[in-house]
Amino acid sequence: MRTSNRTSTLWDSVGNTPLLRIASLSKLTGCEIFGKAEFMNPGASIKDRAAKSMIAGAEARGELTPGGTIVEGTAGNTGIGLAMLGRERGYKVVVTMPDNQAREKYELLAAMGADVRKVAVVPFSNPKHFFHQARELAAQHGWYWANQFENVDNSAAHFTTTGPELAAQAGHIDVLVSAVGTGGTIAGVSRYLKAQFPALKVIAVDPDGSGIYSYIKTGELKCAGSSITEGIGIMRVTANFATALIDDAVHLGDQAMLEMLYHLAAEDGLVVGTSAALNVRAAYDYAMAHRGSGQRIVTLLCDHGSRYTSKVFNPEFLASKQLVARGLPAH
Ligand code: PMP
Repeated sequence: MRTSNRTSTLWDSVGNTPLLRIASLSKLTGCEIFGKAEFMNPGASIKDRAAKSMIAGAEARGELTPGGTIVEGTAGNTGIGLAMLGRERGYKVVVTMPDNQAREKYELLAAMGADVRKVAVVPFSNPKHFFHQARELAAQHGWYWANQFENVDNSAAHFTTTGPELAAQAGHIDVLVSAVGTGGTIAGVSRYLKAQFPALKVIAVDPDGSGIYSYIKTGELKCAGSSITEGIGIMRVTANFATALIDDAVHLGDQAMLEMLYHLAAEDGLVVGTSAALNVRAAYDYAMAHRGSGQRIVTLLCDHGSRYTSKVFNPEFLASKQLVARGLPAH
């Protein structure tokens, strides 16, 4: 428990994050916009919840035994959660990771003793994709493959923790906005909250280079372009995503995301990662379209901006992507 007076463990510190009211955006829109501060998890991201749930599930099923090794394909945050909790519980952690992620994540993994195998960015159909590489390593060595994409211990974490926390903290919720990586978050949270608030509207937000927007709109996974966001965007329907209850989808580019990232830092003192900025931008756009309605809109602040400073606060990197470092346009 975060507020406990007793000593604790990293394991027991996962979850129970604050729900922050985003004052600047609530004022601008006449809605109530809230972000769940998932960067306050001990591994500093929402994926600590999935990592804990997948380890607990594997231990309960006898798939992971003392001294064992966990292997996972990850954009980084699930690996960080597994490395952190694995270290605490005495497991070795091996991660396969695409080689274009923010260097901060590789550094954190290495510091926690994870064995990081960087792989080139290739389409999912290529056996060299980080997902297939993790599965192969598990098969070769007899390691436990967490498999966050298809392992529904992932979405179960959000059904049993993130969803109930949001309902209790927000009281009433009209709209949930969430990006999709594995789909664990949107699946678990949407299923829990729809049962609590039957009129809830669930909106998926998708970056360039991902097929989720077109899948929700047309039933076909199509995409164009690419994005500097990390940990989100996918071109297939995972077992976790398949159980999500989604009403609508929006699509946003990196410039719109970056403007919200800069706005939140400057106006609210809230320095969030790229997926969180995308989430909040979509929540804000919805609120602007329903200005003055007082609707209660919640989203996830999946991780902290400090994990991406080498990219989002790096003028050379931004220029190479034709991105402009500025906040929201004046109103
Ligand atoms: N944001 C970040 C920063 C992430 O690392 C992830 C997980 N890949 C997500 C969002 C998406 O969460 P989920 O896998 O639950 O869809």
